Amino acid sequence: MIQITALHVHYLHICHRKLWLFSNGIGMEHTSDAVADGTLLHDTAYAHRTKRYVELDIPGGKIDYYDPANKVIHETKRSGKMEQAQQAQIKFYLYQLHELGIVASASLDYPEERKSDKIIWLDSDHKLVDSWISQVHQIAIAEISPPKREQRFCQSCAYYDFCWSVDLTS
Ligand code: SF4
Repeated sequence: MIQITALHVHYLHICHRKLWLFSNGIGMEHTSDAVADGTLLHDTAYAHRTKRYVELDIPGGKIDYYDPANKVIHETKRSGKMEQAQQAQIKFYLYQLHELGIVASASLDYPEERKSDKIIWLDSDHKLVDSWISQVHQIAIAEISPPKREQRFCQSCAYYDFCWSVDLTS
């Protein structure tokens, strides 16, 4: 059994092939401009918050901005293009906190769009996240990767060259 993280859940909602590649140790994130951009945004957008919020260790990762007084997770994103996957990632964080006995909520912040989405924990979310975890396991343990499928996320995907510049079948 692999340690499921929020990134697995995020990828589940983006592309099953991406999830499989990542789960099987084929990492390309270090070559990705999009990942570097996300890190830059993370380091600069809310730099003034670093003293007010705490970093929270959770199984398989950490939540960067957690407001312990109000029990609110803050997550910063460049844009809402991957909103569904981003919300799923946040739900997974809330699930992990719920497992630790903390009922929290979250704010998904888009500083460049000057908007925030509030995300609350619902009783039905437990079953939903359990189903995502099960799907992640099924995809991760498959012997071969799901086929590539051109979609709007490909251009900014760290695996773009891997999928589309190299014909592995030749
Ligand atoms: S480039 Fe496209 S098909 Fe390949 S892993 Fe990324 S999102 Fe999936």
